[in-house]
Amino acid sequence: MPAAAGAAAAGAAAAAGAAAAGAGAAMVVPPLLRAVIMGPPGSGKGTVSARIIKHFGMKHLSSGDLLRDNMQKKTEVGILAKSYIDQGRLIPDDIMTRLMLNELKGLDGYNWLLDGFPRTVAQAEALHKECQIDTVIDLDVPFETIKRRLTARWIHPASGRVYNLEFSPPKVQGIDDITGEPLVQRDDDKPETVTKRLQAYDAQTKPVLEYYREKGLLKSFSGTETNKIWPHIYAFLQTKLPDVSQKDAATPR
Ligand code: AMP
Repeated sequence: MPAAAGAAAAGAAAAAGAAAAGAGAAMVVPPLLRAVIMGPPGSGKGTVSARIIKHFGMKHLSSGDLLRDNMQKKTEVGILAKSYIDQGRLIPDDIMTRLMLNELKGLDGYNWLLDGFPRTVAQAEALHKECQIDTVIDLDVPFETIKRRLTARWIHPASGRVYNLEFSPPKVQGIDDITGEPLVQRDDDKPETVTKRLQAYDAQTKPVLEYYREKGLLKSFSGTETNKIWPHIYAFLQTKLPDVSQKDAATPR
């Protein structure tokens, strides 16, 4: 982020702090917040992260986005990462840690939200050596709910039409409304693939959740719907940072 934009963001946070303290009171700048968000695929992590960024003006650092950016630019890390990602494997800890810690240096002095990192205890330990995490937001959504959500998507391959069995089902189950042709599921959305992804998440990240629980940093938010979980996350973060979205703060979306 350019320095000018950074100064503007810091200014906005300071102004919001002053407003929160009340007119005429001494300016209160809240302490920096360094947070991690965790949650299985399909838990609504993307939606929640976007809302956190919007309301609390935190910098968002997503390991997946960073890797995709590197792959697109064909950097050394990107070329290496592609070989792992294509096989559905995690990037080795030392590479991932170096990449993320280097990126974090550029966020010194900002509130930030890490997404997708750390994914292993070794990564969490390496991060801990470099800087103090203040809180870990854990989206605790039952696997059954996620499975239902992720496997509800069916597509008509020829047109790309997408149906969702819960929100926008086809008129006849398994059949495209327009052409009458059969609908299919993407490999990624098939129940067996979804189960595998969830099991992999469980195996890799449970120890990381435990690591943060032991440090007293884990804040779990349980539920089956993002819109019902979000107000609790919002209320929790509001105890730490002012809402800088300046819009409709009473009914955060
Ligand atoms: P994501 O978009 O977070 O699902 O990340 C896409 C892929 O990037 C993952 O499936 C992993 O192969 C890799 N990846 C992302 N973050 C990490 C990490 N912290 N450690 C190792 N591999 C990662």
